[in-house]
Amino acid sequence: MTQKNTDNHIQFLLHQKTIWKNNMLNPIQWGRYENLRPAQIEAIRARTPIAYLPWGALEWHSYHAPIGLDGIKANGLCEALAKEIGGVVLPPVFVGTDTIKPYKGFHHTIEHRVETVTQLCLEFLTQLADEGFKVIVLVTGHYGGGQVTAIADAANKFARENPQIGLWAFPDSEPLEGFFPKNHAARGETSFQLLFKPELVDLTLLPAERETTLDDDGVWGEDPRHASAAEGEKMLKFFLENAVPKINKLLQEYTR
Ligand SMILES: [Zn+2]
Repeated sequence: MTQKNTDNHIQFLLHQKTIWKNNMLNPIQWGRYENLRPAQIEAIRARTPIAYLPWGALEWHSYHAPIGLDGIKANGLCEALAKEIGGVVLPPVFVGTDTIKPYKGFHHTIEHRVETVTQLCLEFLTQLADEGFKVIVLVTGHYGGGQVTAIADAANKFARENPQIGLWAFPDSEPLEGFFPKNHAARGETSFQLLFKPELVDLTLLPAERETTLDDDGVWGEDPRHASAAEGEKMLKFFLENAVPKINKLLQEYTR
């Protein structure tokens, strides 16, 4: 070996050592898809080939909470999953059907057709498979009946055509079932909002001197004034305890 070759070899070994050390120090790698460069996506995908797709809607969530609550919530949950397991988190898709607008007439809501959600969902799933992800985790924060069906239809079609991909598409209420009730803009959703983006909540905008109702305020469930970030934290912990083992199992199954 010439001196130059030896130097190069030592450089190479040092470089390998740095990578190894970084991996040991930071065994879980995740990132936000829209912020990553190609090589970064490849590095994360090589280690943990999971893509998380948060799904939401632009929908009235009463006077105190933002229109994008469902997508913000799903995004927060997907980030928490990615921090535990690794993988990439896609930006939330704010395209919902069966919202509170056709149901109760609340505006500031963008209602899409069921077919639009199914078609868009199928395109995202197909593209993520084409991008080399082996497991796809879709969390829908909006879970009107039509939305859940629209996504289930896309998921079933995708699963039939892509048996090599592990897919789990579910409403965020599923891992919480039996412990935290489904709701809309009420205590539960507002607690998640207070956990993930508290600056977007203003509880003083709710009508004083009476409890909130579905017809008057578009709140389904317990009064949002009982919400707290601490409750959001409790729900998140419960969500992770139920969801993480399922995703790890999918990862094992579909990468062996
Ligand atoms: Zn919601």
